[in-house]
Amino acid sequence: MYLADEIDVIPLNEQEDLLLNYLSGAADIIDKNIVKQLLDKKFDDVSQEITEQLKDRKYIFDNKESKILFEKSLKDKLEFLERRQVPNFLIIPTYNCNLRCIYCYEQKYKIGKENLYEDKYEWVDKLFESINILIENFKLENKIKVDNNEIYITLMGGEPLLYKNIELITYIINKIKNYNYKYNVITNGFELDKYLDLLSSTNVDCIQVTVDGPKEIHDLRRIDKNGQGSYEKTISNIKKALDRNIKTYLRVNIDESNLDYLPNLAQEIMEYIGISKYFIPYIYLLQDGGCSGDKNIIDEVSCIKKLIGIEKEYPIVKIFNKRFHAQSMIDNILNGKENEFKLRNCSACKEQYILDYKGYIYKCWFGIGNKNFNIGSYINGLKINTKLDLMWKNRNINTLEKCKECKYKFICGGGCVSHIIQSGNELNKERCVDYKSIFKELLVNECCQ
Ligand code: SF4
Ligand code: SF4
Repeated sequence: MYLADEIDVIPLNEQEDLLLNYLSGAADIIDKNIVKQLLDKKFDDVSQEITEQLKDRKYIFDNKESKILFEKSLKDKLEFLERRQVPNFLIIPTYNCNLRCIYCYEQKYKIGKENLYEDKYEWVDKLFESINILIENFKLENKIKVDNNEIYITLMGGEPLLYKNIELITYIINKIKNYNYKYNVITNGFELDKYLDLLSSTNVDCIQVTVDGPKEIHDLRRIDKNGQGSYEKTISNIKKALDRNIKTYLRVNIDESNLDYLPNLAQEIMEYIGISKYFIPYIYLLQDGGCSGDKNIIDEVSCIKKLIGIEKEYPIVKIFNKRFHAQSMIDNILNGKENEFKLRNCSACKEQYILDYKGYIYKCWFGIGNKNFNIGSYINGLKINTKLDLMWKNRNINTLEKCKECKYKFICGGGCVSHIIQSGNELNKERCVDYKSIFKELLVNECCQ
């Protein structure tokens, strides 16, 4: 018998432990004595019935070879699926913004002036030609059919929905619809009302709007050019989007300074917006200080602990979905669903391309405007630095030395590249997360207390 390495044991009480399996996605509450027999490798002491269950849930295998085979077949399956994942694109029509959020990372790159071309739509036509070439190359390389309605395009900025750019954005969205691609928009919501006719009539898939807390906090952080808060306009525009049944994700950026205000925000949301199947509020932990430095950044585990305390005191805060690391495995366990594993951290390590209006191409949306993330251009014909593109695509748990042997590899994928590059490291470095503590805090809190 062989015990899988990809497990964690989290003590629950005097009799039981929570056993987690990062190879199968299983989680089980088990008698401490059995756990001890397993960890001591005294498999003969475990009853036949329990042994079969443990084998079935991939905690133990008949021998080391069968475990290696299982792992290999999982890797092969994931490689097959990830290679065939269709390309997705982000379009940056401007780096300008109508807000001056105090933490905005894009300001760091001093991205500069607007349109560079005599014909203001020239870059758009070139951009869509390049998207077509990238899709065709993908189809040829992988020998698969891709329908245009499988292709996703995200509009982001700067702020993509500036009213002064409405003609340009209408031109872009009409192109998207003519090609039959799907699209969504990441916006600050400030001038969203001016775009609602366009978004509804072209069936936008969803929009994402950000708030930073209740009015008193949001208005300190997300201010307009004149230093005025943007809260009321943003919330009222979200309401208008929901009135048109536009699926709206409300992202709440959190850090040390606004965490305590989540109950007030939840209260205001319930009052002004309410619950709807089209409305998905979620919290997002800011992990880099941007222009405001790192002074308010809180580490993930401390944030989770604090949040759980807040939720206990103010259950209304549970209206916010969570997006912490390993969240999908935790949600799958709680909902009895099969877990989805991965070899690569995120879309940036697959077929994701971000094209800005200046003609540059990037892989990760956190690196737009930053030359360290640039992998090509399209203004004078599509030019991709294949070596760089492949470095992103080949960055996975099979190529990162430390990840190869890590028990969390199939839920992690090697960590966020953006943070690695920004801290001056090469792509082939891993970025670890304290998964055990996250499971201990989040899962144990949800299911076992
Ligand atoms: S590398 Fe990090 S920041 Fe960039 S897309 Fe992936 S997860 Fe996001
Ligand atoms: S990045 Fe760290 S935690 Fe993630 S798989 Fe690699 S070694 Fe494990």
